[in-house]
Amino acid sequence: MSTEINPTRGEEKMTHSKTEAPFGQGQNVGPAFGSGLPAADFAQRVRLNQQKLRSDLKPQYDFIVCGSGSSGSVVARRLAENPNVSVLLLEAGGDDDVPSVMDADKWPTNLGSERDWNFQAQPNSHLNGRSVPLSMGKVLGGGSSINVMTWARGHQSDWDFFASEAGDPAWSYASVLQIYRRIEDWHGAPDPAYRGTGGPVFVQPAPDPNPIAPAMLEGARSVGIPTFENQNGRMMEGEGGASIIDVCVRDGKRQSVFRSYTFPYMDRPNLTVLTHTLVTRLMFDGKQVTGVEMFYDGKTHRVGAGLEVVLSLGAIQTPKVLMQSGIGDQAALQRLGIPVVQHLLGVGQNFQDHVAFLCRPSSGRAPLGERVRTYRRARRKFPCRAPRMPHGLACLSVGGPYSVASSGPKAEAVSV
Ligand SMILES: Cc1cc2nc3c(=O)[nH]c(=O)nc-3n(C[C@H](O)[C@H](O)[C@H](O)COP(=O)(O)OP(=O)(O)OC[C@H]3O[C@@H](n4cnc5c(N)ncnc54)[C@H](O)[C@@H]3O)c2cc1C
Repeated sequence: MSTEINPTRGEEKMTHSKTEAPFGQGQNVGPAFGSGLPAADFAQRVRLNQQKLRSDLKPQYDFIVCGSGSSGSVVARRLAENPNVSVLLLEAGGDDDVPSVMDADKWPTNLGSERDWNFQAQPNSHLNGRSVPLSMGKVLGGGSSINVMTWARGHQSDWDFFASEAGDPAWSYASVLQIYRRIEDWHGAPDPAYRGTGGPVFVQPAPDPNPIAPAMLEGARSVGIPTFENQNGRMMEGEGGASIIDVCVRDGKRQSVFRSYTFPYMDRPNLTVLTHTLVTRLMFDGKQVTGVEMFYDGKTHRVGAGLEVVLSLGAIQTPKVLMQSGIGDQAALQRLGIPVVQHLLGVGQNFQDHVAFLCRPSSGRAPLGERVRTYRRARRKFPCRAPRMPHGLACLSVGGPYSVASSGPKAEAVSV
């Protein structure tokens, strides 16, 4: 089937010969999102609906959301809640319905796989010249489909800083706390002042933590670091502390942001989700964005946006696509021969990341060769990353995703 998708460049036709991705087959065991259908039937409805929508792509949608990661999944869903607008969600990666995404305990198998952009940092003199891998999700759900599933709110001081910088109290901790409560479906001890129930995001205290985790907390307490019932309530208002983490895992299954927000709306006629689609640049009329150029099904296509284009491509790809579109530091753009649409300093600058590291129990009795192999495997899967988390938040993973989080100035002392 062919669909002309660009009214201004009639020669471009979109051909759909590709086998459709099997959305939601088999792996999703969650509820049927209030549809009254068993989960498998709902998944089938989604698959058929998306097949139909993909085979009839339009030249223009009201909104085009680029990137289906943690942020794009929420934006696409919230827009699609209005049945009167059409939403196109574009994702470079493929379907998330594979065991390594769905089964919480398989999360490390995504790192270095086709579901990872596999970026590599420049060699860093502060890391003995090493060049560390920078994993980023390339799959429906983006990072939320390959991450460690820790549910970690921002600290009060960070939110209040954002509010003062933006001059907008909506960013303040007091305001955002109410949003956190609204979006959570908290399955720990009831705490209505801090935690919410009935929202789209399933959260629970790490079930069955490794015995090292409570021992770590005891260790923190013994050196005077306050410990908390969880990391997302009072601890985010304090000077520092430690707790067992909260996780977005239900019955051993990952609850990604994509599954929590977007998937439940994918049986609707106004939300089209395209996978294996690389957004290459924005289209303009003067300085007004009119749509996107994308690489899909072996060809370049253009799709118009009647109302807005949202770029939610992650911390590396969002500035990259902006720069490819001519938005950024004009000196850098001119060096690369990219026509400047808008000179904007800061695009592609100030990238920050946080450290991840591994502590694995090792037995002195294991043969040396085996210990070295284990260590090398671990180093490949759990690379060190720099610099540090905002507000000194550090997580220590002990034998899986169920671990201890600590925050504040003393955090690294505890965690390292
Ligand atoms: C290994 C790992 C573990 C983590 N652990 C945790 C954790 O336990 N808890 C936590 O809170 N956070 C964790 N994070 C961080 C968290 O997942 C990210 O901060 C979050 O997902 C970022 O959301 P985003 O929407 O900005 O980008 P992303 O989630 O990265 O989404 C961007 C999306 O855009 C797509 N995309 C990019 N370029 C293009 C293009 N040109 N065209 C089309 N699509 C494109 C990508 O494929 C991706 O799906 C972890 C991250 C990683 C990598």
